[in-house]
Amino acid sequence: MKQYTHFIGGEHHSGTSGRTSDVFNPSTGVKSAEVPLASASEVETAIAVAEAAFPAWSATSVLQRSRIMTKFTALLYQHQPELAKLVSLEHGKVIEDAMGSVLRGIEVAEFSCGIPHLQKGEFSDNVAGGIDLYAMRKPLGVVAGITPFNFPAMIPLWMACMAMATGNTVVLKPSEKDPGCPMRLAELFVEAGGPAGVFNVVNGDKVAVDTLLHDSRIKAVSFVGSTPIAQYVYETATKNGKRCQAMGGAKNHMLILPDADLESVANALMGAAFGSAGERCMAISVGVCVGDEVADKLVKMLTPRVKALKIGTSLEKNLEMGPLVTKEHRAKVMDYIQMGVDEGADLVVDGRDFVLEGSEEGYFLGGSLFDNVKKGMTSYEEEIFGPVLQLMRVQTFEEGMALASDHQYGNGTSIFTRNGAAARTYADRVEVGMVGINVPIPVPLAFYSFGGWKASAFGDHNQFGAEAVRFYTKVKTVTSRWPESTIAADFSIPTLK
Ligand code: NAD
Repeated sequence: MKQYTHFIGGEHHSGTSGRTSDVFNPSTGVKSAEVPLASASEVETAIAVAEAAFPAWSATSVLQRSRIMTKFTALLYQHQPELAKLVSLEHGKVIEDAMGSVLRGIEVAEFSCGIPHLQKGEFSDNVAGGIDLYAMRKPLGVVAGITPFNFPAMIPLWMACMAMATGNTVVLKPSEKDPGCPMRLAELFVEAGGPAGVFNVVNGDKVAVDTLLHDSRIKAVSFVGSTPIAQYVYETATKNGKRCQAMGGAKNHMLILPDADLESVANALMGAAFGSAGERCMAISVGVCVGDEVADKLVKMLTPRVKALKIGTSLEKNLEMGPLVTKEHRAKVMDYIQMGVDEGADLVVDGRDFVLEGSEEGYFLGGSLFDNVKKGMTSYEEEIFGPVLQLMRVQTFEEGMALASDHQYGNGTSIFTRNGAAARTYADRVEVGMVGINVPIPVPLAFYSFGGWKASAFGDHNQFGAEAVRFYTKVKTVTSRWPESTIAADFSIPTLK
């Protein structure tokens, strides 16, 4: 059985707190590893090491940082299958999906190689007689990343690559449920020539998170996880004077207009609702049908497909869905399904009885499909984060758009239609951060940025893209004069002429 460590200053350190957490293979239910849960003093050691690495790293030329990120990117590509296997074994998502999720992280590493261009400042020549004015983007210092279980490669890469490329040093606290991949990322950074101490990983739980949130040497915190913890992290970090971006949960609606190609809609819903067993913050969990005819047809089309989902152990090829991440999470999803039934929604397909022969101890659930889900039901208002698709029926476009706009979450949404004007109005007016038009999972590419609205994100900056350069740097402006003659005294506020 594997014993995970912390990765501090380019070396593995066994945990000394005496506390550990078990890591399981969700496909079999067998314990595969133990991960140490850091004490406050172990986290403080990592912060001290990262702080000591900061002066040299931030003074490293931007071209040299870019070269290291380029080597790191190349190594990530080379190790993509190995990283995907780690993701698949500890998270449970099927291997092709795990490969894709690693790629989406590598794309941010690739984007960060352009840091010489991205981190350029501004310069104004001769703003007054002989005075030049310029602005620089300086790194912040030691920054923390705190990540969820569902993307153990992609989200650590979102944070660490942009933080390091801009000259910061990092303490990453990944999810204790699947810590194998994040650890490997930090090792590969060192293998790529990244200096020891720039990318550190401490494994842990609330104790580690709270230490990061309270330590004055941590200048910024990037968090992704559930909304209650995101809000707690945001409030605590900002109260302690830190910059913070904290992404939370989601409930993503797909609005389906009567003119949409329903075959495409059904295909999109299958992938977006059940891919990764619904454990994606950009999963479509609600299909909003405009008109009963659309709903009736979709129920008919989806029912046999949900019943026939290809489910198996995560390393098998050509599957549609693997297990859920933990036994506890599966139980929580099952509770939400029961809640939906109790609240009066129609459970058309019930995935709770699914058993995978030969893997009876795995954390499997079949796909579930609800019809006639209504606003106000708790199972609709809250995030389920499992393989459950809820269909709702409305009579108008406006009514459908209002559902997405009024929901507490506002991460992603999509509209399926052939009507360009309706699609444009939806993209323009819906109160959600990321919108897809005939695209079910609108995760922006690395050169844009990722972030939801409302209870799906706290803070002002999105993840990756130019937004991340702004998040991980502070602006310094310099007003400069090299006079050829003596400077005269001036007692009024400088007004540059
Ligand atoms: P989580 O909130 O339970 O955990 C996230 C991180 O916070 C982990 O590192 C965990 O160790 C830590 N943590 C957990 N409880 C804590 C506490 N009480 N105090 C301090 N730290 C704590 O989330 P999860 O279950 O790992 O991930 C799933 C959630 O993440 C879902 O809600 C999903 O929607 C969300 N998510 C959001 C996005 C996004 O960009 N909006 C992306 C991926 C996942």
